[in-house]
Amino acid sequence: MHEDTMALDKAYIAPTYRRFPIEIVSGHGSVVYAADGRRYIDMTSGIGVTAFGVADDLWRQAIAEQLARVQHMSNLYYTQPCARLAQLLCERTGMKKAFFSNSGAEANECAIKVARKYAAEHRGKECFTIVTLENSFHGRTLTTLAATGQAQFHALFQPLTPGFAHTPANDLEACIRTAEENRAAAILIECIQGEGGVKSLEPAFVQGLADYARRSGVLLMVDEVQTGNGRTGALYAYMHYGIRPDIVSTAKGLGGGLPLGATLLGEKVEDVLGPGDHGSTFGGNPVCCAGALSILGRIDDAFLAEVRAKGKHVFQALDGAPGVVSLSGRGLMIGIETVKPAPDVLKACMDRGVLCLTAKDRVRLLPALNISWDELKEATAVIRAACAM
Ligand SMILES: *Cc1c(COP(=O)(O)O)cnc(C)c1O
Repeated sequence: MHEDTMALDKAYIAPTYRRFPIEIVSGHGSVVYAADGRRYIDMTSGIGVTAFGVADDLWRQAIAEQLARVQHMSNLYYTQPCARLAQLLCERTGMKKAFFSNSGAEANECAIKVARKYAAEHRGKECFTIVTLENSFHGRTLTTLAATGQAQFHALFQPLTPGFAHTPANDLEACIRTAEENRAAAILIECIQGEGGVKSLEPAFVQGLADYARRSGVLLMVDEVQTGNGRTGALYAYMHYGIRPDIVSTAKGLGGGLPLGATLLGEKVEDVLGPGDHGSTFGGNPVCCAGALSILGRIDDAFLAEVRAKGKHVFQALDGAPGVVSLSGRGLMIGIETVKPAPDVLKACMDRGVLCLTAKDRVRLLPALNISWDELKEATAVIRAACAM
């Protein structure tokens, strides 16, 4: 640790983050190095952001080439990377249009605006409520906080944006009742609640919501900010459920480490936004989009099968292991319920050169999707031992 980094951070940065006393200075793939020279296997990928690890060669080449051409031109002009990325996203999902922004919260803000405008125009001005699930996480802006179904995030920042209702996950009847009573514009879900503790929604619930959306005109929106872009072993987690959402939001891994959000619009809503309805100065930035093209272009069926195989290795190695109560998640988005408190397991892993995350009371793993088998096995063995201690 450079003494001055910690001192400067403490002196000048708003203390919103509880940081670990490690300063990361470099890395490659899933191995990162701290200022004191220590090596760590990174099972966090910057909270699901560095999809191909740190300083990935092809991603770096793609952004460097674009950087040498033009780094930003505003949305008043055409640039190729965002047009090609939108094409790739639509071709791979069957969605019709993309809106680009810079973060998960911003991608969800766009989804919410589209839902409100669509409902106002097609069903009536009173149909503005968005139904979301308890224990969900949709972002930190005042509107996406209102969407987030966790009261602990709400208390200090009242009043939040009105027009949100929360209902328990996996209770189809309650969700439909809430939507009907509120004349909802849309239902917004995460297929696996990430920040909520890596909790998967049941197929019958998700498919029931898709049926309800089709029958009722209420839109189904899926927040794929964390689950998207290959994380769960499908390109988007909704694909595991065989459904077609009306709107999909994503960010995190999409840019491979540069800020990029996308809101994908299905058939029903592809024409909802017109000129002036929405915008984002940095949205569709050509460097970020060139990086995303490099990431998304490599997430093909063979790659996804490898993600699933690597996830399976971790599940098998930890299932029933001493100190492990249960496992959750899918692909390389993994929650571990441990006998010991999750922060203690995290600390034991860190002391042994493996970086992990927590989510609620669980240890959470979000390694780079291309983590090598050797690194994955080494890290899994350390985590297994740490759970047992
Ligand atoms: C991280 C996350 C967000 C917020 O993304 P930001 O880029 O931090 O705004 C929203 N939804 C889900 C499901 C997330 O995991």
